[in-house]
Amino acid sequence: MDPSRHAGRSLDTKAVHGYLGRDPRTGAVSFPIYQSATFAHPALHESTGYAYSRCGNPTVLELENTIALLEGGLKSLAFASGMAAITTLLKSFVPKDRILVSLDLYGGTYRLFKDVYARYGIEFRFVDFTDLDAVRAELTPNTRALFLETPTNPTMQVADLRALSDIAHGNGALLIVDNTFLTCLFQRPFEHGADLVVYSGSKYLCGHNDVTCGFIVLKDDSHLERIFMDYMSEGAALAPFDAWLMLRSLKTLGVRLRRQQESALRIASWLKRHPHVTDVFYVGDPDHPDYALSCRQTDGFGAMISFNVDSNERLLEVLRRVDVITFAESLGGCESLITYPFVQTHGSMPLDIRERLGIGERFLRLSVGMEDADDLIADLEQALA
Ligand SMILES: *Cc1c(COP(=O)(O)O)cnc(C)c1O
Repeated sequence: MDPSRHAGRSLDTKAVHGYLGRDPRTGAVSFPIYQSATFAHPALHESTGYAYSRCGNPTVLELENTIALLEGGLKSLAFASGMAAITTLLKSFVPKDRILVSLDLYGGTYRLFKDVYARYGIEFRFVDFTDLDAVRAELTPNTRALFLETPTNPTMQVADLRALSDIAHGNGALLIVDNTFLTCLFQRPFEHGADLVVYSGSKYLCGHNDVTCGFIVLKDDSHLERIFMDYMSEGAALAPFDAWLMLRSLKTLGVRLRRQQESALRIASWLKRHPHVTDVFYVGDPDHPDYALSCRQTDGFGAMISFNVDSNERLLEVLRRVDVITFAESLGGCESLITYPFVQTHGSMPLDIRERLGIGERFLRLSVGMEDADDLIADLEQALA
């Protein structure tokens, strides 16, 4: 099968078919799970292309090639979690390198940077990427990368990818984008100048709350050798069965996200009118300060909504009462999930930063799932009553 057959096809078609799609040997339409740790060599100095699954496995490679195809990159590498992918990426930096990072960021990434990698002498500066002057003010000759999420988690701020890639490249730094929230379906950072994309695949790409995985996607081969060396040396690779589940998930990425977004648009506007809801943060809301920027740089708004209720008592009551919506960490799956970032996902972030960002004791984050939107609204209605 010639992969150039994908040229000109839409992302949905590519996602359904996968990179090779059918198994070349048997024609199996569901790409097989190569559940083997090791691979026999035909003879000395001859190889099937595989030796040992930590370094490469046919099912995992099919997933990696499919992700690279969808993202518009040259190559992707699959990891056992998003954090494993980001960890491997950090190995490309050395002591005294400075990395500018979104102030508003997934809590686990914040902890990995501040509590783990700062120990190795990498300097992380947390900046508000919506303020380009503030970003420029943090640039130094040893600034090697800008690492950002957009929209941010959980306050839904949008970063201008083109402007930030110009700033990064003007300083000889890389632009690295965590594309977990919108995915390649709605946002393709390479088209706006990003150099590397990372993912928690555990969220929308998986979509079923049943696999943890992560990806590094490379635009070209400029960092491939180094990152591949770390990938195969460290052994955080994804298992073949999980790769197969991910290939299965990707087939429905477009249907899932569009449906989730449609419900999110309805729920956000319903929440805005609710008397016990004081603020709604959803990038698809025309009143969102970055709405115009989102329309310019993305094909969709996703399905993550944050909102403030009128008191902490109300918030605790909502968490107790939700029934269709599940009170649990994570996001992006079929099941709608609600979290309390102040104590859960962002509990490890210093209080002053949480306060500055508005992540307080009335603040909830909702991942809108695949349930019927009317059922979700009815659930919120009884929970907020
Ligand atoms: C969940 C998440 C991560 C971490 O990924 P895991 O798969 O949980 O390790 C990183 N970035 C974002 C934006 C996330 O939501």
